[in-house]
Amino acid sequence: MKLSMNEATALGCQSMSIEQDILLCEKYGFDMIEPRTMDRMRDYLETHKIEELDEFLKAHNVKPLAFNTLVFFNNRSPEGYQGVLDELKQMCEWGKVIGCNTVITVPTVDLKKVTRSEIHKSAIACLKEMGSIADNYGMRVSVEFIGHPAASINTFGEAYEIIQEVNRDNVGITLDCFHFHGMNSSIDDLSKADGKKIFIVHLNDTEDFQFGSLLDEDRLWPGTGCINLDEIFQTLKKIGWAQDAVSLELFRPEYYRMNPNDVYRVGKEKADAVIKRNFG
Ligand code: ZN
Repeated sequence: MKLSMNEATALGCQSMSIEQDILLCEKYGFDMIEPRTMDRMRDYLETHKIEELDEFLKAHNVKPLAFNTLVFFNNRSPEGYQGVLDELKQMCEWGKVIGCNTVITVPTVDLKKVTRSEIHKSAIACLKEMGSIADNYGMRVSVEFIGHPAASINTFGEAYEIIQEVNRDNVGITLDCFHFHGMNSSIDDLSKADGKKIFIVHLNDTEDFQFGSLLDEDRLWPGTGCINLDEIFQTLKKIGWAQDAVSLELFRPEYYRMNPNDVYRVGKEKADAVIKRNFG
């Protein structure tokens, strides 16, 4: 099992950049990184070429796991959706250079008066097209449902139904443990799913606030909150998940006030404990 760091985890810490994140991955034993496309990569590419990022990753023996994040793909205006497709193509181009084969996409939030069937229909149509574009580059599209009422796809069950209907080998799901818990997704739904459709797993924990009220800032080190992580991982094992990598993804302001070295050190320790007891 490889351990990956999502750049959100030390996002607010002082003097961080994608280069710093890669160096800390190497220093603290994270095998992989999830580059943030909307800020860290954008900042880096203002003064560097994508080929330089590839060299930097290789020089420090860190591999890219997935691009974060292609936002708000469904139920968009024609112009908005065109923007999503343009961004997808850009990420696919980068992926070819740095050897990253997955783009994570998240559903639109705060839709007003849009029915569940309209959401379902749009999500399927968009993902079919996005999957076909990504396929031209040998890339995968991974849908991350967001465990909050404002998100248009907010449970595992809904996301899984959608990707089943999309029915493409290169379109699957990102299971973020925090989002799985956030809207009380059903472990029964997960146990009936095909593990091969789970492309990416985000590891974290949370404070025990009511379902539907949890915010990213409530995320905690894995194993220190109320999520039954062992149940999720044991279920993933049973359904044939590849058990290839998990990625630590937190957004906690309290951790942003720590030295980033400590964020990586503690993050590695806490993540390892959960991985070890579930995967040996
Ligand atoms: Zn996530």
